[in-house]
Amino acid sequence: MTVGEALRLAERQLAEAGVDTPRVDAELLLAHMLGVSRTGVHTRGDEPVPDAFQVLLGRRCAREPLAYVLGEWGFRRLVLKTDARALVPRPETEILVERCLELLHAEPAPRVLDLGTGTGAIALAIADEHPGARVTAIDASAGAVSLAKENAQRLHLERRVEIAQGDIAVAADGWDLVVSNPPYVAPQEWDRLQPEIREWEPREALVGLGFHERIARVANTHWLVLETGDCQAEDVAATLESVGYADVRVTPDLAGKPRVVEGRQPT
Ligand code: SAM
Ligand code: GLN
Repeated sequence: MTVGEALRLAERQLAEAGVDTPRVDAELLLAHMLGVSRTGVHTRGDEPVPDAFQVLLGRRCAREPLAYVLGEWGFRRLVLKTDARALVPRPETEILVERCLELLHAEPAPRVLDLGTGTGAIALAIADEHPGARVTAIDASAGAVSLAKENAQRLHLERRVEIAQGDIAVAADGWDLVVSNPPYVAPQEWDRLQPEIREWEPREALVGLGFHERIARVANTHWLVLETGDCQAEDVAATLESVGYADVRVTPDLAGKPRVVEGRQPT
């Protein structure tokens, strides 16, 4: 089969499997196989497709997340290794990092804690974009910790980002900034999530209640920056204010939904 034929076949099969973006996914799977960019696929239309393409296509048709099938995923300036050990980093989380960098821009060597680091996305992006930041990344999941360490090594950031298995209690140690994208999906929402999430991503990375308030109460930090779920930002902002945070602010994501809540602990 040629690349051109494979593209048409893959687009049809992915659409039949219920994938939202069959054309883009077909292009990205082929690009990955051929080692070219997405647009590069179209200049290779007459070349033969490696047999292994069917395996990748089958995985994506089973609704495995594209990031797991490709084994890597872009987050801000980084390409992270991604697999079933941790949540796929989301575009809205790039805004969380943006807020952290803005708050830290005048600090030459801030001490930053990323709670629930998953792939290491937030911690590694902050270290990458703030050359003076010293970042600690914690996760309760041993699988996530091992994946985050692999990412730190691949990106040569292992000396600037310390990664360990741990719990929210670490937030009490005293930090310039604590950032977290904690599990915030309500248990009753689980069945309504798309199969890519429900059937493939770690449930304990997503489902959780009350994390924002627990972190806000435990943290000993100058700044706290939290990602929130749809319709949660207002409540989380009110919680931060009631716990004693000042300068509480909500920032929308690229889709315009209130997504990031931050606050400062008065000294
Ligand atoms: N920070 C990553 C990102 O934004 O892509 C992953 C975020 S994921 C929504 C939440 C993470 O918190 C998961 O990796 C999960 O293992 C971790 N987690 C859940 N409960 C935790 C706890 N009590 N202490 C530390 N980490 C926890
Ligand atoms: N934004 C993620 C989702 O929609 C949830 C991430 C989280 O629980 N922190 O699946």
